[in-house]
Amino acid sequence: MDYISTRGGERATGAQAVVKGIAGDGGLFVPERFPAVSDREMEEMLGMDYPERAALLLVKYFDEYERGELLEALKSAYSRFDDGDAAPLVRVDEGMYLLELFHGPTCAFKDMALTVLPYLLKKGCEINGIAEDVLVLAATSGDTGKAALEGFRDKAGVKIMAIYPDDGVSKMQKLQMGTQEGDNVNVLAVKGNFDDCQRTVKKIFASEECKTKLRERGYLLSSANSINIGRLVPQIVYYFSAYLDLVSSSQISMGDRVDFAVPTGNFGNILAAYYAKRMGLPVGKLICASNRNNVLTEFFARGVYDGNRPFYKTMSPSMDILISSNLERLIFELSGRNAALTAERMKSLSETGKYALRPEELQAMGKTFRAGYADEDDTVDCMYDYFMEYGYPLDTHTGVAMCVAQKYLEKRRKDGQPEIRPLVVVATASPYKFPQAVYYALTGNDVKDSFKGIKRIHLLTAMKVPESLKEIRYKPVRFKTVTTCDKVFSEVLSFVG
Ligand SMILES: *Cc1c(COP(=O)(O)O)cnc(C)c1O
Repeated sequence: MDYISTRGGERATGAQAVVKGIAGDGGLFVPERFPAVSDREMEEMLGMDYPERAALLLVKYFDEYERGELLEALKSAYSRFDDGDAAPLVRVDEGMYLLELFHGPTCAFKDMALTVLPYLLKKGCEINGIAEDVLVLAATSGDTGKAALEGFRDKAGVKIMAIYPDDGVSKMQKLQMGTQEGDNVNVLAVKGNFDDCQRTVKKIFASEECKTKLRERGYLLSSANSINIGRLVPQIVYYFSAYLDLVSSSQISMGDRVDFAVPTGNFGNILAAYYAKRMGLPVGKLICASNRNNVLTEFFARGVYDGNRPFYKTMSPSMDILISSNLERLIFELSGRNAALTAERMKSLSETGKYALRPEELQAMGKTFRAGYADEDDTVDCMYDYFMEYGYPLDTHTGVAMCVAQKYLEKRRKDGQPEIRPLVVVATASPYKFPQAVYYALTGNDVKDSFKGIKRIHLLTAMKVPESLKEIRYKPVRFKTVTTCDKVFSEVLSFVG
């Protein structure tokens, strides 16, 4: 399988695309076609565990990788998850399910791919005969950074730096990153918001001068963000896996359609669902849920992307994003894979902050996508009601998705839609990762520090506290540097030495 750039200037193999992270023309790598999953493969996967399902799907995208070895790498990655199931599906009500993607080492869905990416990247270097070490830069709104640091820590031949907005992540996320262990890791806080971080990292990727300086020091640059196709492909697996679990537990029959609601920021998670659909998974609607930073809600309603708006800090910081990188991959598909048009739109986005779809593209998008948003009050109410009704504590991001999902179901009922389709809400983080906000939502009370919050949520819900979060309290903070965007690259250089 080869990959092409959304802006038309480049072609690469899977291993090359993973190592590069982003195409030389600034575009994102996409598969040259979507590999199909046959009925027989669907039947086969019913009897498989998560790593086996992942191996079957991943070799379709990464055919240079040897399947047996890939399976071993996947088994080892997912053995780091709680409870022996990487992506359990929880039935909460008739036709309503939660797909829990937060049982990995850092308690957010980013672990689903970032426990696997180090293997894809290192093997990718080997396949391409690359002798240099790799420097991974990860711009993060909180969860990617920690998951990438943990995934790459102490991997030979790799250094990793996470770059986050100093004021734009939760206290727990900051502590998780600041206390990261490993000899090859570094963390940088930047004054600004996530979009500033992402722009800074993308600039380094686009700069020949930066890349030359790194090469002189023996380093090749790569990315752990969802712009990297090696991040995206492992995320396709859990949509298949959730579907297969619904079939094997007799909740649906093979071929029935299922809707998914996804709390969205950089559009990576929900794009993986779209890829799954293109591979043949019977997906009904994909519901794109945003918080108060609802640029995507407007985009799906009107076909105009307009990032010129105030940036709000919310209690779901991993979704506080105004420039959703992966949308480029969707509009590339909607345009009929028109690279020139995609490049033009991205140019317009960086120059004016906006671009518009053609009416027929908007219409095509509406066949698969629905979008909505929940502000802070709606989200708190939904999290409270949900806990009262089902005893299930949603995290703040999943709370946004649940709120939007409920509005969607209400509208379907009002519109008299006869068909009842099962709906899976993607649960992206453990509630213990955002303890203060979650405790407030469940009780209306504030709690002064994160660890008290964890204790109280535990008393209230009896939900198990992840060891990795409990431990942080006793770990020294190793990384405290705060800098400005223009100084990031010199920090990078002094890190690689
Ligand atoms: C990253 C993240 C999101 C948003 O995912 P995207 O792929 O960026 O759309 C939602 N919830 C949580 C908890 C996250 O960490």
